[in-house]
Formats: sequence, structure tokens, C-alpha cells
Amino acid sequence: MKQYRMYIDGRWEDAASGRSFESFNPYTGQPWALIPSGDQDDVDRAVTAAHRALHSPEWRGLTASARGALLRKLGDALAEYADHLAEIEVRDNGKLFSEMRAQTSYMREWFYYFGGLADKIEGSVIPTDKAGHFNFTKHEPVGVVAAIIPWNSPLFLASWKMAPALAAGCTLVFKPSEYTSASLLEFARILDDVGFPPGVFNVVTGMGPEVGAPLSSHPLVSKVAFTGSDATGRKIYASAAESMKRVTLELGGKSANIVFADANQDNAVKGVVSGIFAASGQTCVAGSRLLVQRSIHDQFVERLVDFARTAKIGNPMSADTQVGPVTNLPQLEKITGYIDIAKREGATCLLGGKRPEAPEFENGWFVEPTIFSNVRNSMRVAQEEIFGPVLSIIPFDDEDEAVAIANDSLYGLASGVWTEDLRRALLLPDRLESGTVWVNTYRTMSYLTPFGGFKHSGLGKESGQEGIREYLRTKSIWISTATETPNPFIIR
Ligand code: NAD
Repeated sequence: MKQYRMYIDGRWEDAASGRSFESFNPYTGQPWALIPSGDQDDVDRAVTAAHRALHSPEWRGLTASARGALLRKLGDALAEYADHLAEIEVRDNGKLFSEMRAQTSYMREWFYYFGGLADKIEGSVIPTDKAGHFNFTKHEPVGVVAAIIPWNSPLFLASWKMAPALAAGCTLVFKPSEYTSASLLEFARILDDVGFPPGVFNVVTGMGPEVGAPLSSHPLVSKVAFTGSDATGRKIYASAAESMKRVTLELGGKSANIVFADANQDNAVKGVVSGIFAASGQTCVAGSRLLVQRSIHDQFVERLVDFARTAKIGNPMSADTQVGPVTNLPQLEKITGYIDIAKREGATCLLGGKRPEAPEFENGWFVEPTIFSNVRNSMRVAQEEIFGPVLSIIPFDDEDEAVAIANDSLYGLASGVWTEDLRRALLLPDRLESGTVWVNTYRTMSYLTPFGGFKHSGLGKESGQEGIREYLRTKSIWISTATETPNPFIIR
């Protein structure tokens, strides 16, 4: 088994406690790596290093252009390692190699884009109404960032935080998921080779309560950038309030994919399948509720089930596999638990609803693509995030009803609309309470586009120009140009 070490202050270190834990391959169900099990001591060391680096001449002293150049150099280096990083991700999270490879090769664009933005962070000269004064603003790095990520797309989601934070001049302490720590440690090696000064980027591995909690409440941390479940997000938000930290929270979802009678049905079927069965449903934006207009309901559902039935389940490393395992055992139990709940609630299972039975799937953590019809939006299976390949189908009569059902959710991450009606395509997104709306497409994302949810799906945005503002703070500077200080007892 491969033994990994943490990356703190530019050095490779074991956990202060000397403890490690195993990382498992979801396809085989077997452990393949040992990861240091960090705690408060390791967090302290990493945050102290990041705080020192924040003010160091090697980092703070770099010009913004030099910072940008380092980020672009990192982007170039990532291109070389895309295959290697993707393979490590698959070993840990079981997602398809083709998807992970697409992510590990695309993520360099975040470093190019934010590298380019690094020296375009401009303050302004304020046209002041106070005579004898000169007033301007500067944007400074917000400080040390605690970045906490989940297991579904570790490096992709890490890059969304790392690239804007480094471009802004912040320093970071990362805590990867305990299920998928290896890829970020491999990434740290690349970053180290590129020449980022020690302490600018640190990785502390371990469990949520032992590493994530002390990291997100550490007094020297100024901002927490979190992606994960809303339950953990709420804890982080509460603890950040105690010490007035800034937060971005990218949380869960229960996104509605809405198919109107006027949709191109071939495309809609593919969009719905990609929304819920790609990545075995383990994406925050999974289109886990399918809303179908009643006039086409039965025939659309039949087409959908016929198509989904053809999905090839198998080894995530094989090019022809379409559905891989789910990432970890608790997740497998959670998904099968929700399948039982849906059956008890009276939903009709049209496809799947169990683990595949062939000997090939005996050891891995697989669930069949599962489709339920006769779902009411009030059922748990329609309200709670499952994070697995489970689709709930709900009929609707007209646009108003579709909007009401779609918005009747605690979450507000994404929605999909399938229609050939131009007016609906343009106007319906205004009525949907979600941070992203896709029309006649699903899961399209870019480094140029702000991403983030509404309601319980989170706070703040990642990517695009809004992405870098989350890592900056604005300072207003006043300079008196008067030769004489006016009456000090009057506030002007
Ligand atoms: P999780 O909340 O269980 O864990 C996320 C991270 O938080 C892990 O690194 C974990 O160790 C850490 N953590 C756990 N307890 C903590 C604590 N008390 N304090 C600080 N950190 C703690 O989520 P998960 O199961 O790893 O990931 C799945 C969730 O992530 C889903 O809800 C999914 O929707 C969400 N997600 C959201 C987005 C988005 O961009 N909105 C993207 C991907 C995943």
C-alpha cells in the first residue's frame, strides 16, 4: 500500500499523532493507500505556516504579474499530469476515468484564467465630495483561507478555490475528504515543483471533526471556502460567525429537470440521463427530480427508462463503462436506504432499485440506475439529497405548476428546462430559484461563469470574475491634501 504524507510549510510530514487511515478503491472494495490522520496540532502548524507566508517577502513581495505567471506555470504543469491525477481520483472515488480525465485536463484553465486576472485587480480613485482630500480604494488578499472539499470531484473543486485565492494573494490550508485525500497530495507535489514558496499552500489530511472543525474555526484563518453537504456547511457557517470569518459555501441540491411537451424529446432524454446517472448521481447539480408535462408523461418516461436500461455498469477505468460504483460504503448504504424509503412512501420503481447481481460487482460499491415514478414532491425522496443514481419523476400540467414544484425545495442549486419555445427559454429562468439554469443542456460549466447556489445550496460564487472577489477585501484610503487641519471638533 502506498503511504502518503501531508504537505505543510513546503515539507512532507506525518501526522503529529503518528496515526494513519486507509483509503479504499470503490471498484474493488479494497484499501490501496495509507493517509496521515491529522488533528489540531497539524492544523496549527499548517495555519501558522500559511499566516507567516501570507506576509512573507517571497509571497507578499511578488508583483501581481509574477503571481499570475506562477499560476500559469502551474496550469502548464497540470497538463502533463492530467492522466496520472485522473487515475488517482478514480482509484479513490470510483468515478469514470473519462470524466475524471476531462476534469483534470480542463482544470488548468482555472489557473490560466485567474493567473490572467491576478494583475487586473484594480482599485479606484473615488471622486470625493470632501474638499482637500484624495480618496482611493485598494483590494487586498482576504488572508489565510481554509479550503475544505468533498470526495466527488476533489481536484476540480480544489482548483475552483485555489486558483482565485492564489491570484488574489491569499495563502491556503486545504483539507480534502477523508475518502479521497491522495489526489490533492499528488497535486501538492506538482505545485511544489512549480516553485510556490513554502507555506503558501498546505494540505492537512484527516477526519472532519479532527481537522475540518479546528481548521474552519482557527483564529488565524480569515475565510472558509467550503464545498460539501448542507449539514456540514451549517456547522461551518455557525462557527465562522463566532470569529467573523468570511465564507463561501457550495452545498447540496435537489435540482429539477423540467421537460415540456414542446421539448426535443431525444435531447431531453439524454439530458435527463446525464443529469442523474453520470457520476452515478454523485454530483451536487444532479437533476434528481424530473418534472414531466402530463400530456407527454407516459411516452417520455417509457423512452427514458428504455434508454437508461442500456447503461453499461462496470469498471470505471474501462472506456465503455457508463456507470461506475459509488464512492464509499456509507454512501452506498445511504442510497439503498433512500430506495427503501421511496418504496415505502408509495413510489413505483420502474428501473433498478437494487445492487447489480453479477459476480463482477460483488466486491465493489455499485447501485443500479434507479427510476421512480408516482412521486409527490412532498415525499422524502423528492425533498432530500440522495447523492446517488436515483431519479424521482413528478408530473405537472402547466408552467405555473412546474415552477411551483421546482421551487418547492429547501435547495436552489440548479435547474434544467427542456423546451423549443423561445419565449419560455428566455423567461422561465427568471422564475426558478436556483443559481444556475440550463436550457436544453445540463451540467455545462466553465471557468468563466460564476457558479453557486441559492437558499440552502449555499452562499457566494466560484469561478468567473465574481470568483476572485470572494478572496479580496476592499480598503478605502483617504489622504488630506489640505495644508492646515480644519476645526478638530467638527466631524466632516
Ligand atoms: P461532507 O459535508 O460530509 O464533507 C465535506 C468535507 O467537510 C469533507 O472534507 C469532510 O471531512 C469535512 N467535514 C466534515 N465534518 C466537518 C466539520 N465539522 N467541520 C469542518 N469540516 C468537516 O460532504 P461529502 O459527503 O464529502 O460531499 C457530498 C456533498 O457535497 C453533497 O451534499 C454535495 O451536494 C456537496 N457538493 C456540493 C457542490 C457544490 O458546488 N455546490 C459540489 C460537490 C459536492
